[in-house]
Amino acid sequence: MAKQIDILGVNVDVVTMAEAVERVESYMDERAGVMVATANAEMIMRATHDAELMRILNNAALVVPDGAGTVWAAHHLGCDMPERVAGYDLAQLLMARAPQKHRRIFFFGSAPGVADKAKEKAERLYPGIEIVGTRNGFFKPEDEPDIVAAIKAAKPDLLLVALGVPKQEKWLAKYMKELGVPVAIGVGGTFDVMAGVMKRAPLWMQKAKLEWLFRGMMQPKRAGRLMALPKFVLKVHASRK
Ligand code: UDP
Repeated sequence: MAKQIDILGVNVDVVTMAEAVERVESYMDERAGVMVATANAEMIMRATHDAELMRILNNAALVVPDGAGTVWAAHHLGCDMPERVAGYDLAQLLMARAPQKHRRIFFFGSAPGVADKAKEKAERLYPGIEIVGTRNGFFKPEDEPDIVAAIKAAKPDLLLVALGVPKQEKWLAKYMKELGVPVAIGVGGTFDVMAGVMKRAPLWMQKAKLEWLFRGMMQPKRAGRLMALPKFVLKVHASRK
């Protein structure tokens, strides 16, 4: 049984980046039909008052520790969490291996044009990569059958979904069976960063575990969401037995 740590009710897997990549690779080999979630502090906080999200996360095949907050919480709860496994980095490593492994990848989500730009970027970065389809993430409920049909027809091995939290997790939970894809991962702002619409924190800030602060600064609408972090810290501390 894989090792997990319960952080405010969310069972987060104790994995390194290399192990997370291997787990996803094996789900593709087995054509498992599973979801992978990337849990940062904000997502975990949301799950504490969103029972549906909590249930989805705890049914995911793999929940990686995305973000300094999640790694801190694991350590604070006495778990030897090896490192942060950011969704963006996980997606890049999987894409880097895709050409050699002949993996087919579908990009679903973000504003119109962004997934296409991210596809061009992926094709430049990872020559030979097969991005077998893209679809923007702004749609009406009546468009969903067509989106599902387009993804099914493209037969991806890996589906990356960027609709934001918790929309991407809920959408996937609803359609996972029907889609028949071996693995799907909710990747938040990944296509925005790849397309150059949004910047990632400079490396020094990532290393200083300050990426959350950078994101809050770059997107003032997110600044309010930063308040989730001190609340998260207090809640995790209070939950310590
Ligand atoms: N997004 C989308 N459809 C929506 C809402 C958001 O495709 O209905 C996209 C948005 O354009 C962005 C991504 O979801 O590319 C992630 O958004 P955000 O950074 O707000 O999400 P989070 O950090 O919560 O994952």
